[in-house]
Amino acid sequence: MTASADTHGTDRDDTEDVALIRRNLQAVHARIDAACTRAGRSPSEVRLLPVTKTVPERRIRHAIEAGCTIFGENKVQEARMKAEALSDLPVRWSVVGHLQTNKAKYVARFASEFQALDSAKIAEALDRRLQIEGRALDVFVQVNSSDEKSKYGLAPDEVEPFLKLLPRYPALKVRGLMTLAVLSADHRRVRECFVRLRTLRDRLRADAPNGVELHELSMGMSGDFEVAIEEGATVIRVGQAIFGPRLLPDSYYWPA
Ligand SMILES: *Cc1c(COP(=O)(O)O)cnc(C)c1O
Repeated sequence: MTASADTHGTDRDDTEDVALIRRNLQAVHARIDAACTRAGRSPSEVRLLPVTKTVPERRIRHAIEAGCTIFGENKVQEARMKAEALSDLPVRWSVVGHLQTNKAKYVARFASEFQALDSAKIAEALDRRLQIEGRALDVFVQVNSSDEKSKYGLAPDEVEPFLKLLPRYPALKVRGLMTLAVLSADHRRVRECFVRLRTLRDRLRADAPNGVELHELSMGMSGDFEVAIEEGATVIRVGQAIFGPRLLPDSYYWPA
């Protein structure tokens, strides 16, 4: 058995894999609890969003058996296929990666949440498609908190004018802000990104436009979610700590 096969559960039987995912979820929840205790917060304020990119349908079924009810996916095409394959189960989908206008119609059909809103063009395309579908979508505005040129998301000083446009798109239910911290082993630099997002949210919340809610802060992944919780995260997006290491490099999902 190769390590990669083991990682993706292809050689593990179904019952074993459900048990493994359950143990991993318990370990993540224990880490959430500990971070909340340090920060004087309640674990009920932090939602765990399991991220299933590259995880095959069969293992997602195991995760549902282990209690998951919503999954995050980075790429629309992958999310769409999985939503279709799993349409027999009561499960919801959150798209957490960059979206192109021509894919907005799919997101409007199958997703219940979109966390990477960063342009008026996408807002417009989504709203139009959602109106056609008679649906609404919870959205997060993605912020580039690390100043890396390659990162998606609005610069912090672009967020306030952007929020002012959003009441034009009534099918978009704005819930808060999302960010990816700098990928660094230096927790101080990672923490700075999270502090920046929280500070921005706090400053903008007071006079956010009508109907624009800024309660949520989606920040933190497998390697840094404790820091994010200490800095106020209300949603953490966690893949590898639940499903094991990914085979595809992260540069496939966001520019390096
Ligand atoms: C993959 C991904 C995550 C989760 O990363 P892990 O290292 O697997 O926890 C979080 N957010 C986004 C946008 C992702 O694409």
